[in-house]
Amino acid sequence: MSGWFDETLHQAYRQGLREGRLLYDSETAHQRLRLFENPVFGRVLTLDGVVQVTTGDEFIYHEMMAHTPILAHGAARSVLIVGGGDGGMAREALKHPGVGRVVMVEIDAGVIEFSRKFLPGVSAGAFDDPRLEVVIADGAEYIARQGESFDVILVDSTDPIGPGEVLFTETFYGHAKRRLAPGGVLVTQNGVPFLQPDELRNTMRAFRALFADATCYLATIPTYAGGPMAFGWGTDGQARETAEETLAGRLAASGIEGLRYYSPAVHKAAFALPGYVAALIG
Ligand code: SAM
Repeated sequence: MSGWFDETLHQAYRQGLREGRLLYDSETAHQRLRLFENPVFGRVLTLDGVVQVTTGDEFIYHEMMAHTPILAHGAARSVLIVGGGDGGMAREALKHPGVGRVVMVEIDAGVIEFSRKFLPGVSAGAFDDPRLEVVIADGAEYIARQGESFDVILVDSTDPIGPGEVLFTETFYGHAKRRLAPGGVLVTQNGVPFLQPDELRNTMRAFRALFADATCYLATIPTYAGGPMAFGWGTDGQARETAEETLAGRLAASGIEGLRYYSPAVHKAAFALPGYVAALIG
């Protein structure tokens, strides 16, 4: 063992993480799970050789993906998470007292079982919250069924390789739109535009055909290497226009404290896109 983990997500760019103690390395029915310790990022979970979550920087991704749509919406009662097996997205969504129901549709029960055992701080009790329903299924199949609507849908998936590929299709997005309640917001994990421009371009093409408001917002997660990552944003409502002061009032009313990345000011700024990203979604 070289002592280093080389991420193999990109063709011509690699990131290396020093691999300290190897805690787990096994195949589930869907993907290869590997967990090791790194001096900077703490525990690092990879699926099929791609960094999924680290205990060091997961707060950035989970705060920005969950609180941005929920606070912009302003009256979210139900949230659907597609993927999210580590439990971090459920943890953040469940911080909102107004959210009465979170459904997590995760294809790989092994990720949940594993994360509860080896990454308990990521879910932080979310899996025991009575408001959470976990459904073990392919998110693409679940979303295609007739069923309840959601105020916010968060696609907290792997990259469009392996089981995650179906979650980046026009068909999936069309079904997701049909499962949104009026004024609902769809947010997607959409990769690092500098290194994965086609991923964002393709999603935005589909969103522009589906939603009155189709754009993305950005946040920089150190272990999603290559620059800021994009969160796809699609809605027919006005949620994106919510003023910073209104967001601040909603955050205060929620009683949520101790966030380390999200703030109303960061929320609004995240939608200010640099030219190279704006060109991808235009
Ligand atoms: N934060 C990570 C990122 O941005 O890449 C995502 C983390 S979360 C662990 C990704 C989850 O998506 C995994 O648990 C994986 O099993 C799940 N997943 C992949 N394809 C899926 C599908 N088709 N339906 C439901 N869950 C899926």
